[in-house]
Amino acid sequence: MITLVVNATVLTMDPTLPVAEALAVKDGRLVEVGGTDEILWLREDDYELIDLEGRTVVPGFVDPHNHFSIGALETFWADCRDATSIADLQSAMAAAAARTPPGEWVRGLGYDARRLRERRDPTRAELDEAVADRPALLLHFSHHQGVANSRALAAAGVTRATPDPRGGEIGRDRSGEPTGLLYERAMSDAERGSREGWETRFVASAAAASRAYAAQGITTIQDAAVTPAMARRYAQAREAGALAIDVVETMVGSRGWFDPPDDAAPGPWLKLFVDGGYRCAVRFERDGRLVTQGFLFYERGELAAILTSAWRAGRRVVCHAIGNVGLETAAGAIADALAGEPAGRERVRIDHAIFLTPELIGRIADLGVWVVAQPSFLWDGVTSAPPPGLMRRPFRSVVEAGISQAFSSDFPCGSLSPLAGIAAAVGRRTRHGELADADQAISIRQALEAYTIGAARAAGLGHDRGSLEAGKRADFLVLSTNPLQSQPHELAEVQVLQTWVSGKLVTNKA
Ligand SMILES: [Zn+2]
Repeated sequence: MITLVVNATVLTMDPTLPVAEALAVKDGRLVEVGGTDEILWLREDDYELIDLEGRTVVPGFVDPHNHFSIGALETFWADCRDATSIADLQSAMAAAAARTPPGEWVRGLGYDARRLRERRDPTRAELDEAVADRPALLLHFSHHQGVANSRALAAAGVTRATPDPRGGEIGRDRSGEPTGLLYERAMSDAERGSREGWETRFVASAAAASRAYAAQGITTIQDAAVTPAMARRYAQAREAGALAIDVVETMVGSRGWFDPPDDAAPGPWLKLFVDGGYRCAVRFERDGRLVTQGFLFYERGELAAILTSAWRAGRRVVCHAIGNVGLETAAGAIADALAGEPAGRERVRIDHAIFLTPELIGRIADLGVWVVAQPSFLWDGVTSAPPPGLMRRPFRSVVEAGISQAFSSDFPCGSLSPLAGIAAAVGRRTRHGELADADQAISIRQALEAYTIGAARAAGLGHDRGSLEAGKRADFLVLSTNPLQSQPHELAEVQVLQTWVSGKLVTNKA
C-alpha cells in the first residue's frame, strides 16, 4: 500500500526543496516529496489518502543525547523535582519505600538543593529517618551526584577509610565520616546498585515510555549512557516489539555511567565523560586570581590516546564536556588525535559545551566536529550567573562561528519536549519567563534544523532521517501550527497532533 499525504505545508529541512505540499510513503520510506498534484499521480490500486487541510508537517525530532533507559523507570522512583524542603524529600522517599518490593533499593530523583528551604543537600542521617531498613539513594537533578543512606553506603562499601576515586569525591564531615553525599565516580557503586534490580522492569515499561516520547514528536533517540546489562535489555525490548521509536545506544562502562566502556562493548558508539556534570571543570578569574573548580576525568594526552584507539577499532565517541576546562581538554585531545587520524573527524562529537569563551568556540570550530547542546536546560531555569568571563549556552555565537550544532534534551536531566527546547533557543526564556542572554537567540529555522537534520547527522544518521526527502525513513509529524509563523513565546505551545515512525501512525491527537 502507498500512503499519500497531501495539502500540507511540509517543512522538509532539505535545502533543495525547503517547503513542499505533499509526500508519498511506501514500506516505511518516503517515495516522493513535492506538490499535491504530483503526489496524487503516484496513486496505486491499494492506497491511503490523507488530506491535511493545510496543516504543517516536519521531520520527526531526533534527540541525540537522551537517557530513555533511566526515564522509562522513573515512575517507580521518588520524584523530588518539586521538593522545597528536606521534609518533602523524606516523605517522598518514605512513600517510595512503601511501594518498593522487598530486597529492592529505594531510589529518588530530581532534588535541587538551591530550591530547598534549607539550601543544602540532605544527609545520610536524614535519609535514614525516611528509609532505615534498606538501601536508599536520592539522586540530584544533574544525575552526577546523590545522597545515600547508611545501608546504601554499606552496600556500596563506602566507609571513612575509602579513598576518593579519581573523578569523584565522597562527602565527609569534619571527623572524616561520610555524610552520604557521593559525587560523580564516587557514586558509581551505589548508583548501579540502586538501578540494576529495577532494570528487570525495563522491557515492560518501554512501550508506554516510548509512546510518550512519540507523543512529543521524538522518533529517534540516542541513549547517552547504556551499560552492557542495559544493552541486553534493549535487545529484549526490540525483540518484544516494545519500542515505538528508534534507539541508538551509546555505551558506558559496566561498573557505572562515569567509567569508560569496555573494549567488548557492542555497537559503534562510546561515551566518555571528560569532566563532571553539576561540578564540571571550570576556570575563571575572581578578585584578580585564577580559580579552578570541579572534576576533570582525563588529561589531554590520555584522552587523545583513547580516541585514537577507539577510532582504529571503528568506534564513534561522544565526549561529554561542560566546563571550559573540560572543553579545552576535549578540544585539545581531539586535535591531537586528529593529527594522526584525520578521518576521526566524522567519529567524534562534543556533547553539552555549556561554559564557553570566544577562544574556545574558535578552537572547536577549527576541529569541524559536531556539538550537541541542550536548550532544555535553558528552558528549565537559570538560577545563578555563570562564572565570571564565561558564556553560558551561547547558541548564536556557536552557529556564527560555523560550528555544526545539534540540539537534544538530556532527559530526564532536562525537559523532554523538543518544542520547549526550540522555544528556549529562539526566545532565550525559561519556562518561568526569565530572559537569559537575548543576544544569543537563534532563528526558528536554525532551531528546527538543530533538532531534526542536525541531530540526525550528529547521531550518524543524516543519510537516513532528519529531513523529508525521497529514500529517507518516513518519520514525520503533523503539527497544530506552523512553527516558522509562530512568535517565540508560542513555540512551546505548538502541539504534535500526529507522529509517524517508519510510515506508521504511532500517536494521534488529531
Ligand atoms: Zn546526559
